Amino acid sequence: MKHPLAYLLPQTEEQVLAAVVCGQKLKISVVPRCGGHSFEKYSYGDTNSVVVDLRKINQVVLQSTTAAEVGPGASTGEISAKLWKLGKLFIPVGACPTVGISGLATGGGYGVFDRSYGLTVDSIAEINIVTAIQGLITVNVSVNSDLFWALRGAGAVNYGIITKFIFRPKTAPPHLFEGILNYDLGSFEQVYKVWQSSFVDARRSISGRILIANKQMQVIFYDTSGSSQEYQNVMTKFPNSISGGSNTTYSYADFLLHEANNLTLSKIVLENVQELENLRIEYMLQEFRKTKSFFAQHFLDKQEIRALYEILETIPDNVKVLFVWLGGAIDDLGQDETAFCHRTGRHFRVEVWIESTSNSISASYQQGKFWVESFFHNCIPIYDHKESYQNFVDADLVDYLTRYYGHNVDKLIEIKRKYDPDNYFHSPQSIPTN
Ligand SMILES: Cc1cc2nc3c(=O)[nH]c(=O)nc-3n(C[C@H](O)[C@H](O)[C@H](O)COP(=O)(O)OP(=O)(O)OC[C@H]3O[C@@H](n4cnc5c(N)ncnc54)[C@H](O)[C@@H]3O)c2cc1C
Repeated sequence: MKHPLAYLLPQTEEQVLAAVVCGQKLKISVVPRCGGHSFEKYSYGDTNSVVVDLRKINQVVLQSTTAAEVGPGASTGEISAKLWKLGKLFIPVGACPTVGISGLATGGGYGVFDRSYGLTVDSIAEINIVTAIQGLITVNVSVNSDLFWALRGAGAVNYGIITKFIFRPKTAPPHLFEGILNYDLGSFEQVYKVWQSSFVDARRSISGRILIANKQMQVIFYDTSGSSQEYQNVMTKFPNSISGGSNTTYSYADFLLHEANNLTLSKIVLENVQELENLRIEYMLQEFRKTKSFFAQHFLDKQEIRALYEILETIPDNVKVLFVWLGGAIDDLGQDETAFCHRTGRHFRVEVWIESTSNSISASYQQGKFWVESFFHNCIPIYDHKESYQNFVDADLVDYLTRYYGHNVDKLIEIKRKYDPDNYFHSPQSIPTN
Protein backbone atom coordinates (compact mmCIF):
# COMPACT_ATOMS: atom_id res chain seq x y z
CA MET A 1 0.00 0.00 0.00
CA LYS A 2 1.21 3.55 -0.83
CA HIS A 3 1.76 5.78 2.19
CA PRO A 4 1.05 9.50 2.05
CA LEU A 5 3.55 12.12 3.27
CA ALA A 6 1.28 12.92 6.20
CA TYR A 7 -2.16 12.22 7.48
CA LEU A 8 -4.21 15.11 8.90
CA LEU A 9 -7.30 14.81 11.09
CA PRO A 10 -8.85 18.28 11.12
CA GLN A 11 -11.65 18.97 13.58
CA THR A 12 -12.94 22.23 12.11
CA GLU A 13 -13.55 23.82 8.73
CA GLU A 14 -10.81 26.36 9.50
CA GLN A 15 -8.29 23.55 9.99
CA VAL A 16 -9.19 22.17 6.56
CA LEU A 17 -8.58 25.64 5.14
CA ALA A 18 -5.22 25.79 6.94
CA ALA A 19 -4.24 22.41 5.48
CA VAL A 20 -5.00 23.65 1.96
CA VAL A 21 -3.15 26.94 2.44
CA CYS A 22 -0.07 25.06 3.77
CA GLY A 23 -0.27 22.52 0.95
CA GLN A 24 -0.41 25.28 -1.66
CA LYS A 25 2.60 27.09 -0.11
CA LEU A 26 4.65 23.89 0.03
CA LYS A 27 3.39 22.70 -3.38
CA ILE A 28 2.08 19.48 -1.89
CA SER A 29 -1.28 18.00 -2.95
CA VAL A 30 -3.99 17.44 -0.40
CA VAL A 31 -6.31 14.46 -0.81
CA PRO A 32 -9.65 14.54 1.03
CA ARG A 33 -10.98 11.35 2.55
CA CYS A 34 -14.41 10.76 4.01
CA GLY A 35 -15.55 7.12 4.18
CA GLY A 36 -12.52 5.76 2.30
CA HIS A 37 -14.76 3.62 0.04
CA SER A 38 -13.36 4.82 -3.29
CA PHE A 39 -13.17 1.69 -5.45
CA GLU A 40 -9.80 2.78 -6.84
CA LYS A 41 -8.53 4.15 -3.50
CA TYR A 42 -8.45 7.72 -4.82
CA SER A 43 -8.72 9.01 -1.24
CA TYR A 44 -5.60 7.17 -0.04
CA GLY A 45 -3.03 9.65 -1.33
CA ASP A 46 0.47 8.78 -2.46
CA THR A 47 4.03 9.54 -1.52
CA ASN A 48 3.66 13.13 -2.79
CA SER A 49 0.44 14.04 -1.03
CA VAL A 50 -1.13 14.67 2.36
CA VAL A 51 -4.39 12.95 3.24
CA VAL A 52 -6.98 15.20 4.91
CA ASP A 53 -9.19 12.69 6.70
CA LEU A 54 -12.47 14.33 7.61
CA ARG A 55 -13.84 11.71 9.99
CA LYS A 56 -13.71 14.05 13.00
CA ILE A 57 -15.97 16.58 11.28
CA ASN A 58 -19.02 14.38 11.39
CA GLN A 59 -21.79 16.38 13.09
CA VAL A 60 -25.41 15.70 12.21
CA VAL A 61 -27.46 18.63 13.55
CA LEU A 62 -30.98 19.73 12.72
CA GLN A 63 -31.21 23.46 11.94
CA SER A 64 -34.93 22.96 11.33
CA THR A 65 -37.10 20.05 10.22
CA THR A 66 -36.19 20.93 6.64
CA ALA A 67 -32.45 21.64 7.05
CA ALA A 68 -29.90 19.20 8.46
CA GLU A 69 -26.25 20.23 8.84
CA VAL A 70 -23.95 17.29 8.15
CA GLY A 71 -20.18 17.16 8.54
CA PRO A 72 -18.20 15.98 5.49
CA GLY A 73 -16.69 13.08 7.42
CA ALA A 74 -19.97 11.48 8.53
CA SER A 75 -20.80 7.97 7.38
CA THR A 76 -24.21 7.36 5.85
CA GLY A 77 -25.02 4.92 8.67
CA GLU A 78 -24.48 7.52 11.35
CA ILE A 79 -26.46 10.12 9.39
CA SER A 80 -29.41 7.74 9.01
CA ALA A 81 -29.29 6.75 12.68
CA LYS A 82 -28.97 10.31 13.95
CA LEU A 83 -31.64 11.82 11.69
CA TRP A 84 -34.03 9.09 12.67
CA LYS A 85 -33.35 9.73 16.34
CA LEU A 86 -33.61 13.50 15.88
CA GLY A 87 -37.12 13.38 14.45
CA LYS A 88 -37.81 10.23 12.43
CA LEU A 89 -36.23 12.01 9.47
CA PHE A 90 -34.03 10.70 6.69
CA ILE A 91 -32.19 11.49 3.51
CA PRO A 92 -32.04 8.83 0.80
CA VAL A 93 -28.65 7.08 0.92
CA GLY A 94 -27.27 3.72 -0.18
CA ALA A 95 -27.47 0.49 1.75
CA CYS A 96 -23.93 0.23 3.09
CA PRO A 97 -23.72 2.20 6.38
CA THR A 98 -19.95 2.68 6.27
CA VAL A 99 -19.91 4.59 2.96
CA GLY A 100 -19.00 8.25 3.53
CA ILE A 101 -21.41 11.08 2.76
CA SER A 102 -18.87 13.19 0.86
CA GLY A 103 -18.14 10.58 -1.80
CA LEU A 104 -21.72 9.30 -2.02
CA ALA A 105 -23.56 12.63 -2.14
CA THR A 106 -21.24 14.43 -4.55
CA GLY A 107 -21.40 11.73 -7.23
CA GLY A 108 -25.06 10.68 -7.02
CA GLY A 109 -26.13 8.32 -4.26
CA TYR A 110 -28.30 5.38 -5.27
CA GLY A 111 -30.30 3.32 -2.81
CA VAL A 112 -33.65 1.61 -2.38
CA PHE A 113 -35.33 4.99 -1.83
CA ASP A 114 -34.09 6.71 -5.01
CA ARG A 115 -37.15 6.11 -7.20
CA SER A 116 -39.40 7.43 -4.42
CA TYR A 117 -37.31 10.28 -3.02
CA GLY A 118 -34.47 10.97 -5.47
CA LEU A 119 -30.72 10.50 -5.16
CA THR A 120 -28.66 11.66 -2.18
CA VAL A 121 -27.29 14.50 -4.33
CA ASP A 122 -30.82 15.76 -4.95
CA SER A 123 -31.31 16.48 -1.23
CA ILE A 124 -28.34 18.86 -0.96
CA ALA A 125 -29.41 22.45 -0.22
CA GLU A 126 -26.03 24.07 0.44
CA ILE A 127 -22.33 23.25 0.67
CA ASN A 128 -19.30 24.85 2.31
CA ILE A 129 -16.08 24.18 0.43
CA VAL A 130 -12.41 25.15 0.65
CA THR A 131 -11.38 26.20 -2.85
CA ALA A 132 -7.92 26.96 -4.24
CA ILE A 133 -8.43 30.67 -4.89
CA GLN A 134 -11.32 31.87 -2.74
CA GLY A 135 -10.65 29.85 0.41
CA LEU A 136 -13.69 28.73 2.42
CA ILE A 137 -16.92 29.66 0.65
CA THR A 138 -20.60 28.80 0.76
CA VAL A 139 -22.37 27.64 -2.39
CA ASN A 140 -26.10 27.22 -3.01
CA VAL A 141 -28.67 28.10 -5.68
CA SER A 142 -28.13 31.83 -5.10
CA VAL A 143 -24.44 32.13 -4.15
CA ASN A 144 -21.70 30.67 -6.36
CA SER A 145 -24.50 28.78 -8.09
CA ASP A 146 -22.23 27.55 -10.90
CA LEU A 147 -20.04 25.72 -8.40
CA PHE A 148 -23.11 24.43 -6.55
CA TRP A 149 -24.29 22.97 -9.86
CA ALA A 150 -20.90 21.30 -10.47
CA LEU A 151 -20.54 19.85 -6.97
CA ARG A 152 -23.86 18.01 -7.35
CA GLY A 153 -22.53 15.25 -9.59
CA ALA A 154 -18.84 16.11 -9.91
CA GLY A 155 -18.00 17.17 -6.37
CA ALA A 156 -15.48 14.52 -5.40
CA VAL A 157 -12.12 16.28 -5.18
CA ASN A 158 -12.52 18.25 -8.44
CA TYR A 159 -13.11 21.73 -7.03
CA GLY A 160 -11.87 21.67 -3.45
CA ILE A 161 -12.59 20.04 -0.10
CA ILE A 162 -16.17 20.12 1.08
CA THR A 163 -16.38 21.08 4.75
CA LYS A 164 -20.12 21.13 5.38
CA PHE A 165 -23.39 20.01 3.79
CA ILE A 166 -26.90 21.25 4.42
CA PHE A 167 -29.40 18.60 3.38
CA ARG A 168 -33.18 18.81 3.10
CA PRO A 169 -34.31 15.84 5.21
CA LYS A 170 -37.68 14.23 4.75
CA THR A 171 -39.95 12.24 7.04
CA ALA A 172 -38.76 8.64 6.97
CA PRO A 173 -41.27 6.25 5.38
CA PRO A 174 -43.03 4.35 8.17
CA HIS A 175 -42.69 0.99 6.45
CA LEU A 176 -40.71 -0.66 3.76
CA PHE A 177 -41.80 -3.84 2.03
CA GLU A 178 -39.21 -6.20 0.63
CA GLY A 179 -40.12 -9.07 -1.68
CA ILE A 180 -37.60 -11.61 -2.93
CA LEU A 181 -38.02 -14.25 -5.63
CA ASN A 182 -35.30 -16.87 -6.16
CA TYR A 183 -34.42 -18.55 -9.45
CA ASP A 184 -31.75 -20.65 -11.07
CA LEU A 185 -29.77 -18.69 -13.62
CA GLY A 186 -31.36 -20.89 -16.30
CA SER A 187 -34.58 -18.84 -15.92
CA PHE A 188 -32.76 -15.60 -16.76
CA GLU A 189 -34.33 -14.95 -20.17
CA GLN A 190 -37.87 -15.37 -18.88
CA VAL A 191 -37.22 -13.34 -15.73
CA TYR A 192 -35.35 -10.46 -17.39
CA LYS A 193 -38.15 -10.03 -19.94
CA VAL A 194 -40.78 -9.64 -17.20
CA TRP A 195 -38.46 -7.49 -15.08
CA GLN A 196 -37.80 -4.94 -17.84
CA SER A 197 -41.43 -4.77 -18.95
CA SER A 198 -42.65 -4.36 -15.33
CA PHE A 199 -40.53 -1.20 -15.12
CA VAL A 200 -42.58 0.63 -17.74
CA ASP A 201 -45.66 1.37 -15.66
CA ALA A 202 -44.34 0.65 -12.15
CA ARG A 203 -45.15 3.20 -9.48
CA ARG A 204 -42.21 5.23 -8.25
CA SER A 205 -42.65 3.83 -4.74
CA ILE A 206 -41.43 0.47 -6.05
CA SER A 207 -37.84 -0.32 -6.91
CA GLY A 208 -36.78 -3.53 -8.59
CA ARG A 209 -33.49 -5.28 -9.07
CA ILE A 210 -31.99 -8.58 -10.20
CA LEU A 211 -28.92 -9.86 -8.38
CA ILE A 212 -26.87 -12.67 -9.89
CA ALA A 213 -24.39 -14.46 -7.65
CA ASN A 214 -23.18 -18.05 -7.44
CA LYS A 215 -25.18 -18.97 -10.58
CA GLN A 216 -28.37 -18.09 -8.70
CA MET A 217 -30.65 -15.18 -9.36
CA GLN A 218 -32.73 -13.08 -6.99
CA VAL A 219 -35.41 -10.63 -8.07
CA ILE A 220 -35.78 -8.11 -5.26
CA PHE A 221 -38.49 -5.48 -4.86
CA TYR A 222 -38.84 -2.69 -2.34
CA ASP A 223 -41.95 -0.58 -1.82
CA THR A 224 -42.04 2.59 0.25
CA SER A 225 -45.74 3.38 -0.32
CA GLY A 226 -47.04 1.97 2.96
CA SER A 227 -49.20 -0.55 1.12
CA SER A 228 -48.02 -3.95 -0.04
CA GLN A 229 -50.66 -4.28 -2.76
CA GLU A 230 -48.81 -2.68 -5.66
CA TYR A 231 -45.52 -4.50 -5.39
CA GLN A 232 -47.30 -7.78 -4.86
CA ASN A 233 -49.16 -7.14 -8.12
CA VAL A 234 -45.80 -6.68 -9.82
CA MET A 235 -44.40 -9.85 -8.27
CA THR A 236 -47.31 -11.97 -9.52
CA LYS A 237 -46.20 -11.25 -13.10
CA PHE A 238 -43.03 -13.28 -12.56
CA PRO A 239 -42.62 -17.01 -13.14
CA ASN A 240 -42.91 -19.27 -10.11
CA SER A 241 -39.91 -18.86 -7.88
CA ILE A 242 -37.94 -21.81 -6.58
CA SER A 243 -38.10 -22.27 -2.80
CA GLY A 244 -36.80 -19.63 -0.46
CA GLY A 245 -38.57 -16.47 -1.65
CA SER A 246 -39.81 -14.05 0.98
CA ASN A 247 -42.04 -11.09 1.78
CA THR A 248 -41.00 -8.91 4.70
CA THR A 249 -42.33 -5.69 6.19
CA TYR A 250 -39.81 -3.50 7.97
CA SER A 251 -40.22 -0.38 10.03
CA TYR A 252 -37.72 2.20 8.75
CA ALA A 253 -35.49 1.68 11.80
CA ASP A 254 -35.58 -2.11 11.41
CA PHE A 255 -34.69 -1.70 7.75
CA LEU A 256 -31.52 0.19 8.73
CA LEU A 257 -30.58 -2.71 10.96
CA HIS A 258 -31.43 -5.26 8.29
CA GLU A 259 -29.34 -3.49 5.67
CA ALA A 260 -26.38 -3.48 8.04
CA ASN A 261 -26.59 -7.24 7.52
CA ASN A 262 -24.33 -8.09 10.39
CA LEU A 263 -25.28 -9.09 13.91
CA THR A 264 -22.66 -6.94 15.56
CA LEU A 265 -23.56 -4.00 13.43
CA SER A 266 -27.26 -4.54 13.92
CA LYS A 267 -26.82 -3.92 17.64
CA ILE A 268 -24.92 -0.73 17.13
CA VAL A 269 -26.21 1.20 14.15
CA LEU A 270 -28.83 2.93 16.22
CA GLU A 271 -26.95 2.90 19.50
CA ASN A 272 -23.23 3.30 19.11
CA VAL A 273 -22.25 4.98 15.89
CA GLN A 274 -18.60 5.01 16.95
CA GLU A 275 -18.45 1.30 16.18
CA LEU A 276 -19.15 2.13 12.57
CA GLU A 277 -15.79 3.81 12.55
CA ASN A 278 -14.02 0.54 13.36
CA LEU A 279 -15.90 -1.20 10.59
CA ARG A 280 -15.01 1.56 8.19
CA ILE A 281 -11.33 1.10 8.98
CA GLU A 282 -11.66 -2.65 8.48
CA TYR A 283 -13.33 -1.97 5.14
CA MET A 284 -10.56 0.37 4.04
CA LEU A 285 -8.03 -2.37 4.61
CA GLN A 286 -9.69 -4.67 2.08
CA GLU A 287 -7.21 -4.77 -0.71
CA PHE A 288 -8.63 -6.06 -3.95
CA ARG A 289 -11.77 -5.13 -5.79
CA LYS A 290 -12.91 -4.21 -9.27
CA THR A 291 -16.27 -2.70 -10.13
CA LYS A 292 -17.64 -1.60 -13.48
CA SER A 293 -21.00 -0.07 -14.29
CA PHE A 294 -23.10 1.18 -17.17
CA PHE A 295 -26.54 2.55 -17.88
CA ALA A 296 -29.07 0.79 -20.12
CA GLN A 297 -31.02 3.14 -22.33
CA HIS A 298 -33.04 0.66 -24.30
CA PHE A 299 -35.14 -2.42 -23.68
CA LEU A 300 -33.59 -5.64 -24.91
CA ASP A 301 -35.33 -7.74 -27.52
CA LYS A 302 -35.45 -11.55 -27.43
CA GLN A 303 -32.12 -12.00 -29.26
CA GLU A 304 -30.35 -9.45 -27.05
CA ILE A 305 -31.64 -11.11 -23.88
CA ARG A 306 -30.42 -14.43 -25.29
CA ALA A 307 -26.98 -12.93 -25.96
CA LEU A 308 -26.86 -11.50 -22.43
CA TYR A 309 -27.75 -14.87 -20.96
CA GLU A 310 -25.00 -16.58 -22.95
CA ILE A 311 -22.50 -14.22 -21.32
CA LEU A 312 -23.99 -14.65 -17.84
CA GLU A 313 -23.87 -18.45 -18.13
CA THR A 314 -20.08 -18.17 -17.80
CA ILE A 315 -20.09 -15.98 -14.65
CA PRO A 316 -17.52 -17.16 -12.09
CA ASP A 317 -18.73 -17.80 -8.53
CA ASN A 318 -16.74 -14.87 -7.14
CA VAL A 319 -18.37 -12.27 -9.40
CA LYS A 320 -21.73 -10.55 -8.90
CA VAL A 321 -23.95 -8.71 -11.38
CA LEU A 322 -26.77 -6.36 -10.40
CA PHE A 323 -29.48 -4.87 -12.64
CA VAL A 324 -31.39 -1.97 -11.03
CA TRP A 325 -34.46 0.01 -12.10
CA LEU A 326 -33.90 3.76 -12.36
CA GLY A 327 -36.52 6.42 -13.25
CA GLY A 328 -39.13 7.73 -10.82
CA ALA A 329 -37.92 10.65 -8.69
CA ILE A 330 -34.39 10.36 -10.17
CA ASP A 331 -35.88 11.83 -13.36
CA ASP A 332 -37.59 14.76 -11.64
CA LEU A 333 -34.49 16.78 -12.46
CA GLY A 334 -33.18 17.16 -16.01
CA GLN A 335 -29.82 15.87 -17.27
CA ASP A 336 -28.24 19.32 -17.07
CA GLU A 337 -29.99 20.74 -13.99
CA THR A 338 -27.11 19.41 -11.89
CA ALA A 339 -23.80 17.88 -12.97
CA PHE A 340 -25.35 14.44 -12.41
CA CYS A 341 -26.42 13.58 -15.98
CA HIS A 342 -27.64 9.97 -15.80
CA ARG A 343 -31.35 10.73 -15.80
CA THR A 344 -34.39 10.37 -18.09
CA GLY A 345 -34.14 7.50 -20.52
CA ARG A 346 -31.51 5.72 -18.39
CA HIS A 347 -33.88 2.90 -17.54
CA PHE A 348 -31.52 0.56 -15.72
CA ARG A 349 -28.13 0.61 -14.01
CA VAL A 350 -25.94 -2.46 -14.44
CA GLU A 351 -23.10 -3.20 -12.01
CA VAL A 352 -20.56 -5.99 -12.09
CA TRP A 353 -17.97 -6.53 -9.40
CA ILE A 354 -15.50 -8.76 -7.64
CA GLU A 355 -13.88 -8.21 -4.25
CA SER A 356 -11.45 -10.13 -2.12
CA THR A 357 -10.19 -9.70 1.41
CA SER A 358 -7.28 -12.05 0.83
CA ASN A 359 -3.72 -10.75 1.31
CA SER A 360 -2.62 -11.68 -2.16
CA ILE A 361 -4.07 -11.85 -5.64
CA SER A 362 -5.19 -15.42 -6.32
CA ALA A 363 -5.63 -17.03 -9.73
CA SER A 364 -9.40 -17.16 -9.20
CA TYR A 365 -9.44 -13.43 -8.38
CA GLN A 366 -7.54 -12.73 -11.59
CA GLN A 367 -9.98 -14.84 -13.59
CA GLY A 368 -12.93 -13.13 -11.93
CA LYS A 369 -11.49 -9.69 -12.63
CA PHE A 370 -10.95 -10.62 -16.27
CA TRP A 371 -14.59 -11.74 -16.46
CA VAL A 372 -15.72 -8.40 -14.97
CA GLU A 373 -13.81 -6.54 -17.70
CA SER A 374 -15.12 -8.87 -20.43
CA PHE A 375 -18.71 -8.54 -19.26
CA PHE A 376 -18.51 -4.76 -19.54
CA HIS A 377 -17.07 -4.93 -23.08
CA ASN A 378 -19.27 -7.79 -24.29
CA CYS A 379 -22.35 -5.84 -23.21
CA ILE A 380 -21.51 -2.91 -25.52
CA PRO A 381 -23.06 -4.51 -28.62
CA ILE A 382 -26.09 -5.57 -26.57
CA TYR A 383 -26.84 -2.34 -24.70
CA ASP A 384 -24.83 0.18 -26.73
CA HIS A 385 -23.91 1.68 -23.35
CA LYS A 386 -22.10 5.02 -23.23
CA GLU A 387 -22.25 6.16 -19.60
CA SER A 388 -20.86 4.86 -16.31
CA TYR A 389 -21.60 5.84 -12.71
CA GLN A 390 -18.92 8.26 -11.44
CA ASN A 391 -19.14 6.90 -7.90
CA PHE A 392 -18.09 3.48 -9.17
CA VAL A 393 -14.74 4.90 -10.20
CA ASP A 394 -13.06 2.72 -12.73
CA ALA A 395 -9.42 3.54 -13.52
CA ASP A 396 -9.55 1.54 -16.79
CA LEU A 397 -12.07 3.81 -18.50
CA VAL A 398 -10.28 5.84 -21.17
CA ASP A 399 -13.34 7.97 -21.93
CA TYR A 400 -14.19 8.51 -18.27
CA LEU A 401 -15.11 12.21 -18.59
CA THR A 402 -17.96 11.62 -21.05
CA ARG A 403 -18.91 8.34 -19.38
CA TYR A 404 -19.25 10.05 -15.98
CA TYR A 405 -20.55 13.47 -16.99
CA GLY A 406 -22.03 13.19 -20.53
CA HIS A 407 -22.87 16.53 -22.12
CA ASN A 408 -21.94 18.41 -18.95
CA VAL A 409 -18.17 18.00 -19.45
CA ASP A 410 -17.51 21.36 -21.15
CA LYS A 411 -19.37 23.30 -18.48
CA LEU A 412 -17.52 21.41 -15.73
CA ILE A 413 -14.18 22.32 -17.33
CA GLU A 414 -15.21 25.97 -17.53
CA ILE A 415 -16.13 25.99 -13.83
CA LYS A 416 -12.86 24.21 -13.01
CA ARG A 417 -10.94 27.02 -14.75
CA LYS A 418 -12.81 29.59 -12.69
CA TYR A 419 -12.37 28.02 -9.24
CA ASP A 420 -9.16 25.99 -9.61
CA PRO A 421 -7.22 27.29 -12.66
CA ASP A 422 -3.94 25.70 -11.52
CA ASN A 423 -5.58 22.29 -11.02
CA TYR A 424 -4.49 22.17 -7.39
CA PHE A 425 -7.24 19.68 -6.54
CA HIS A 426 -6.89 16.62 -8.68
CA SER A 427 -7.14 12.85 -8.77
CA PRO A 428 -6.37 10.37 -11.57
CA GLN A 429 -9.80 11.03 -13.11
CA SER A 430 -10.55 14.60 -12.08
CA ILE A 431 -11.96 17.39 -14.26
CA PRO A 432 -9.11 18.99 -16.23
CA THR A 433 -8.70 22.71 -16.83
CA ASN A 434 -8.80 22.34 -20.63
C1 LIG B 1 -19.19 -1.39 0.10
C2 LIG B 1 -19.64 -0.28 -0.80
C3 LIG B 1 -21.01 -0.04 -0.94
C4 LIG B 1 -21.45 1.00 -1.76
N1 LIG B 1 -22.80 1.22 -1.87
C5 LIG B 1 -23.24 2.24 -2.65
C6 LIG B 1 -24.64 2.50 -2.77
O1 LIG B 1 -25.49 1.82 -2.19
N2 LIG B 1 -25.03 3.54 -3.56
C7 LIG B 1 -24.13 4.32 -4.24
O2 LIG B 1 -24.55 5.24 -4.94
N3 LIG B 1 -22.78 4.09 -4.14
C8 LIG B 1 -22.33 3.07 -3.37
N4 LIG B 1 -20.98 2.83 -3.27
C9 LIG B 1 -20.04 3.68 -4.03
C10 LIG B 1 -19.76 4.94 -3.23
O3 LIG B 1 -20.78 5.89 -3.49
C11 LIG B 1 -18.41 5.55 -3.65
O4 LIG B 1 -17.38 4.59 -3.47
C12 LIG B 1 -18.11 6.82 -2.87
O5 LIG B 1 -17.16 7.59 -3.58
C13 LIG B 1 -17.57 6.51 -1.48
O6 LIG B 1 -17.48 7.69 -0.74
P1 LIG B 1 -16.54 7.73 0.54
O7 LIG B 1 -16.67 9.08 1.12
O8 LIG B 1 -16.81 6.55 1.41
O9 LIG B 1 -15.12 7.49 -0.11
P2 LIG B 1 -13.73 8.27 -0.12
O10 LIG B 1 -12.79 7.26 -0.65
O11 LIG B 1 -13.43 8.89 1.19
O12 LIG B 1 -13.98 9.44 -1.16
C14 LIG B 1 -14.36 9.21 -2.51
C15 LIG B 1 -13.81 10.36 -3.38
O13 LIG B 1 -14.31 11.59 -2.89
C16 LIG B 1 -13.24 12.47 -2.52
N5 LIG B 1 -13.66 13.15 -1.30
C17 LIG B 1 -13.86 12.61 -0.07
N6 LIG B 1 -14.27 13.54 0.78
C18 LIG B 1 -14.33 14.71 0.09
C19 LIG B 1 -14.69 16.03 0.44
N7 LIG B 1 -15.08 16.35 1.66
N8 LIG B 1 -14.65 16.98 -0.51
C20 LIG B 1 -14.26 16.69 -1.78
N9 LIG B 1 -13.92 15.45 -2.17
C21 LIG B 1 -13.96 14.46 -1.24
C22 LIG B 1 -12.06 11.54 -2.29
O14 LIG B 1 -10.81 12.21 -2.43
C23 LIG B 1 -12.30 10.46 -3.33
O15 LIG B 1 -11.83 10.91 -4.59
C24 LIG B 1 -20.52 1.80 -2.46
C25 LIG B 1 -19.14 1.55 -2.32
C26 LIG B 1 -18.72 0.53 -1.50
C27 LIG B 1 -17.24 0.28 -1.38
